[in-house]
Amino acid sequence: MPYDVAVIGLGAAGSAALYHLARRGKRAVGIERFSINHDRGSSHGQTRVIRLGYYEHPSYVPLLRSAYTLWRDLELATGETFLHITGIAEMGRPDSELVAGTLASSREHNLTHEILDAKELMRRHPVFRLPDDFIAVMQPEGGFVEAEHAVRAHVTLAKDMGADVRENERVLAIEPNRGGVCIVTAREKIEAGHVIVAAGAWTKTLLPDLAANLRATRQVLMWVDPADPVPFRETRFPVWMLESELGIHYGFPFSDAEGLKVSKHFHEQEVVDPETYDRTTSARDEALIRAALTQFIPAADAPARAAKTCLYTMSDDAHFVLGRVPGHPQIIVASPCSGHGFKFSPVMGEVLADLATKGETRHDIGWLGLGRF
Ligand SMILES: Cc1cc2nc3c(=O)[nH]c(=O)nc-3n(C[C@H](O)[C@H](O)[C@H](O)COP(=O)(O)OP(=O)(O)OC[C@H]3O[C@@H](n4cnc5c(N)ncnc54)[C@H](O)[C@@H]3O)c2cc1C
Repeated sequence: MPYDVAVIGLGAAGSAALYHLARRGKRAVGIERFSINHDRGSSHGQTRVIRLGYYEHPSYVPLLRSAYTLWRDLELATGETFLHITGIAEMGRPDSELVAGTLASSREHNLTHEILDAKELMRRHPVFRLPDDFIAVMQPEGGFVEAEHAVRAHVTLAKDMGADVRENERVLAIEPNRGGVCIVTAREKIEAGHVIVAAGAWTKTLLPDLAANLRATRQVLMWVDPADPVPFRETRFPVWMLESELGIHYGFPFSDAEGLKVSKHFHEQEVVDPETYDRTTSARDEALIRAALTQFIPAADAPARAAKTCLYTMSDDAHFVLGRVPGHPQIIVASPCSGHGFKFSPVMGEVLADLATKGETRHDIGWLGLGRF
């Protein structure tokens, strides 16, 4: 019997979509080319930043409010913790994109926030060394979500509610037909009424005619071991982002299991082929990240414990690409990445399930659609 909906790709977006479909009693199948929680795409690793006042665009805030609610719902459904509210400090010059954008978004949506000058920020968090002309926007709702844990939980719950999951099965083609779509995999043909393409960096290989110009870019994460981890622990140290002439860097509280995680947003913006890109890390990768520690958090300028690569799937305007494919309403594309999509995953799941089952959603996503390209 054909499926109501097939979901291609079980990273952050696809796993959440599968869960929301199964929760509605839909016959759904998720098809993943590798194994769940593999490390070749965008969703691996333990943590991702979540924040409410959003420098990228104020229109993300209503989606974020829903995402926070749905993260809590996931916690209730599983009895497990995914959301860690540590507060977030977003630092830089007042006219930087990060600080000005966060403030604009927070003011437009009347969000709780506090503005600190450099001196006050360093009084509260003495590990930072900020220039006098920096300020910090503090958002109490900021923090991090547990990434691989969430993907695993969405897939497990979906399976428990009857969804089928195919791992290590690559989709080769999507063929629209009168009943919906035929999905040709390396092993079989799967019929479904609708398909959600949540294939991350591989989206264009499945939908080459997609209007959006999506590019995979290589990113690097590093974990260091500060001599004294105490000031960096979750109870004392917030998630942080900092914009300077070096770019935007960000980091998380220390964890015994991982160390102190730090990264440079967009890294070198190096466009790569997701099939063949270099997944080893170099001294140059480390230097680009470490430069911010040396300058702004010298107590964290410590030996590296590990470094890893990851992919951003960038659109031309760095906003998500989300909606039905023109001319093929049974095909829904979901590229909630451009380097900032994980925190949205539960609300993406709801939106995608809405589009596949009702053709519409209560969430304001029109501005993220394919029509803009
Ligand atoms: C280093 C790094 C740091 C980040 N930090 C943050 C952060 O702090 N906060 C935040 O909100 N976001 C962050 N992001 C972004 C966020 O992680 C991504 O937006 C999100 O993970 C994208 O998920 P996805 O499901 O679109 O893609 P993916 O997780 O890559 O999932 C796509 C899946 O499709 C599968 N697939 C592809 N082709 C096929 C095929 N033909 N057949 C079957 N399966 C296929 C792939 O194997 C893959 O599993 C970060 C990303 C990176 C890389």
